[in-house]
Amino acid sequence: MKEDRKSARFSVRGITPRSDAFEQVLLLNASFEPLNVINWKRAVKLVFLEKVEVLQESDRIVHAVSDSLKVPAVIRLFRYVGFRRRDIKFSRQNIYFRDKFRCQYCGEKLRPKELTCDHVIPRSRGGKTTWTNIVTCCIPCNRKKGGRTPREAGLRMMRKPSRPSWLLGFHMRFRSHQPPASWREYLFLSGRPT
Ligand SMILES: [Zn+2]
Repeated sequence: MKEDRKSARFSVRGITPRSDAFEQVLLLNASFEPLNVINWKRAVKLVFLEKVEVLQESDRIVHAVSDSLKVPAVIRLFRYVGFRRRDIKFSRQNIYFRDKFRCQYCGEKLRPKELTCDHVIPRSRGGKTTWTNIVTCCIPCNRKKGGRTPREAGLRMMRKPSRPSWLLGFHMRFRSHQPPASWREYLFLSGRPT
C-alpha cells in the first residue's frame, strides 16, 4: 500500500487537522474484522484510490480537486490482507484490563493502585508468570492467599485466567478513549477465530 499513498492528490479545506473527533478512521479487512486505526487523510486516499468501501461516514467534508466527500469513519478493504496476529504485551496493566479491574477472588472492582497481580499457583510451587497463571487480585485477598493455592486458601476464582483474544487486544489499544459510536458495531465482529 506504500506506493499508493503518494499517488492520491487532493486538497483539504474546512477541516481542523487536529480535531480528534474524526481524526481516526477504523479500517476493516475485507472480512469485516478490525485491522487498524488510520488517520483520516490516509483513509480518504484509500477511498479515492477505490481500495475501500465506506461503511460509516463522519459529518465532515473533504474537498478534493474535482470532488468532495464526507470523511469516512469506518472503511473496509475490498481485498483481504493477511496479517500476523500481534501478541498482546504481557504486562500488569493488560492483566488488569483482561480481568476488568476486578479482583479474581472476591470480585471487587478497584483502581489500579489498589490492585496487585497474583500467581494462582504460587511461584514457590513452580507457578509460572504467564497469562494463564496470573490474575488481578486485591491486596486483602492477596494477603489472605499468601503462598497457597486458591483451594488451600478457601478462595474461589471468578474465572480461569487465559491469554486474551486478538479482539480484546484490539480494544486494549483504545482503552484510553472510548471508540467513536460509529465504530462500535464493527468492533464486536471478528471473522477470525480467537
Ligand atoms: Zn479480593
